[in-house]
Amino acid sequence: MDLNLSGNYAVISGGAKGIGSSIVKCFVNEGVNVAIIDIDSDAAEYLLDNLDCDGVNTVSIEADLTNKDACQFAIKQVLKWSNGKLDILVNNAGVNDSVDLTDGPKKFQLSLDRNLVHTYCLVHYALNALKESNGSILNISSKVAQTGQGGTSGYAASKGAINGLTREWAVDLAPYGIRVNAIAPAEVMTPLYKSWIESLPEPEETLNQIQDQIPLGHRMTTKEEIADLATFLVSPKSSHTTGQIFNPDGGYVHLDRSCTSSISRKNS
Ligand code: NAP
Repeated sequence: MDLNLSGNYAVISGGAKGIGSSIVKCFVNEGVNVAIIDIDSDAAEYLLDNLDCDGVNTVSIEADLTNKDACQFAIKQVLKWSNGKLDILVNNAGVNDSVDLTDGPKKFQLSLDRNLVHTYCLVHYALNALKESNGSILNISSKVAQTGQGGTSGYAASKGAINGLTREWAVDLAPYGIRVNAIAPAEVMTPLYKSWIESLPEPEETLNQIQDQIPLGHRMTTKEEIADLATFLVSPKSSHTTGQIFNPDGGYVHLDRSCTSSISRKNS
């Protein structure tokens, strides 16, 4: 299927690694010109150097998105690179930082800066360009906003707010033909996920237990499966879809796991 994305300009926050890097790869394969904004510019440059970018322009812009001025400067650099054109903004950067109820307001605020505030800032600073192109915004949320996880108030609040903003901005921006959607991943093996699972006392056993709870195939979602949905959602093939939150998670959030785990199947 031709997604009609060729020649578009996109910016992806946190595009150097993990889910963001798979979205970058998918976009480049579709002929999209891609700017990565990431704190890890070495990883971003390595990724871009090792992609077949024939016929597309790419750029890596280093920024710590917890800094609001850096968000503004990064978008300014993107627009300079693209001659003011921007069709797609993917808000992907974030980290499940385990800031909980015991940590207090300062750490909570920092967690919002890591996960939420830059989402608003990037859209704010890119708004005029997105209005010009009748562009598309995709926010990467998390199942934690829908299910809770325990011990991660800042992250849960941020991702819940991102879901709210997805609906809010879909209303705000419909008059400009700008579509706004969100993807809420559940369990995807990425550098972030790997370091979290390895921090647990029994990583292998825990991973097996988690996978067992995933109804479809008892496996994690791949980064590529998230990226394929992301690419479809920002494309004109998804032209009447806005304000939606998608759960590409093998049924993890919405199916009754007590019916679908391999343990309950054995007992039935
Ligand atoms: P990842 O492997 O850590 O990749 C994210 C990239 O974003 C990294 O290069 C990271 O740099 C960068 N980054 C993080 N904070 C940044 C900041 N303040 N400024 C600039 N760059 C920043 O993460 P991932 O697992 O792919 O997650 C991507 C998104 O999916 C996140 O929003 C996450 O909450 C969401 N998500 C992931 C899962 C999952 O199972 N993996 C599940 C639900 C939701 P450093 O590595 O140097 O920090």
